[in-house]
Amino acid sequence: MDYVYGPGRNHLFVPGPVNIPEQVTRAMNRNNEDYRSPAIPALTKVLLEDVKKIFKTTSGTPFLIPTTGTGAWESALTNTLSPGDRIVSFLIGQFSLLWIDQQQRLNFNVDVVESDWGQGANLDILASKIGEDKSHTIKAVCIVHNETATGVTNNLATVRKILDHYQHPALFLVDGVSSVCALDFRMDEWGIDVALTGSQKALSLPTGMGIVCASPKALEASKTAKSVRVFFDWNDYLKFYKLGTYWPYTPSIQLLYGLRAALDLIFEEGLDNVIARHGRLAKATRVAVEAWGLKNCTQKEEWFSDTVTAVIVPSYIDSSEIVRRAWKQYNLSLGLGLNKVAGKVFRIGHLGNVNELQLLGCLAGVEMVLKDVGYPVKLGSGVAAASAYLQNSTPLIPSRI
Ligand code: PLP
Repeated sequence: MDYVYGPGRNHLFVPGPVNIPEQVTRAMNRNNEDYRSPAIPALTKVLLEDVKKIFKTTSGTPFLIPTTGTGAWESALTNTLSPGDRIVSFLIGQFSLLWIDQQQRLNFNVDVVESDWGQGANLDILASKIGEDKSHTIKAVCIVHNETATGVTNNLATVRKILDHYQHPALFLVDGVSSVCALDFRMDEWGIDVALTGSQKALSLPTGMGIVCASPKALEASKTAKSVRVFFDWNDYLKFYKLGTYWPYTPSIQLLYGLRAALDLIFEEGLDNVIARHGRLAKATRVAVEAWGLKNCTQKEEWFSDTVTAVIVPSYIDSSEIVRRAWKQYNLSLGLGLNKVAGKVFRIGHLGNVNELQLLGCLAGVEMVLKDVGYPVKLGSGVAAASAYLQNSTPLIPSRI
């Protein structure tokens, strides 16, 4: 008995964990297997090759780690840096805050570059810090590509340009948790040294797999990095890669088969089409927000996120009430405002395996809740604006052409 049963499908529009497609659920519905049999290494070998495609890398080395995004952060940091190392990190929202907290607790010397929540990373300050650092005391630049708390996307190409302009050797570590497989992400082209994501975001898998991809320079750095690491030590993985058995400890068999199915779906749609779909759904969401007369928490268009939109509510409304009511009344799950923006924003996640009509259902639900909590919205206004946009911009489904 499901004590929170609601009829129909839950409209899951939090920015992760996201909907799991049927094909993936079915692929995971299987018994455990002996991971030392030849089958699992054979499956893993191909997964490791294929997973590089979602980071757009050919030179990176991926690690499929039984963990979450938080563990993937720790893997990136502890394998490449030593305690006391100076790093530059940007505080722009709850997830960059949590990563900075981890960096400080791991005893790195963190130069925190803070911006208002709703703004992107201040890359002018990065340029001045990198420009002044003639003796290369900065060992890494850490940045969250897409700040899920505020719906802000940072410009990674600019970070690379700054490092190149000053010929600075700092490692470039990127949290791609709410961006990889949804936003344009080019590990090799942007010279990213460690890129990471979590299975429950745009890959549309259950939570439980952290995917970390290391450049040759990051692997080289791991040979001298002195941070203590055991569970996350890349070297343990590399030893087993060489042996062709791949696993230093027990992988989730079900998640491996799920990843296979998730990648197959992404490749069938085409990664670039997947990215375009995210752009379309995000734009539709933004036109709906505008039609409701509400503001995007993201302060400039250049930072608009195509995976999550944080919507500011008028001060007489508590945004948490919107989230509570959406779930209780309409079986719609929206994202809460977190920390500094708690009560002030609610979030619509539009990432992963989701389509136009699902989004319109969500937008219809948001309108009803807005009206319920006393906001004078015209029912249908956001849906009309979004569907007018989608009707003009939605292509044929790639595999059905
Ligand atoms: N980074 C970003 C951008 C996130 O959105 C999240 C979670 O939502 C995390 C890191 C942390 O990931 P996890 O909750 O899987 O540990």
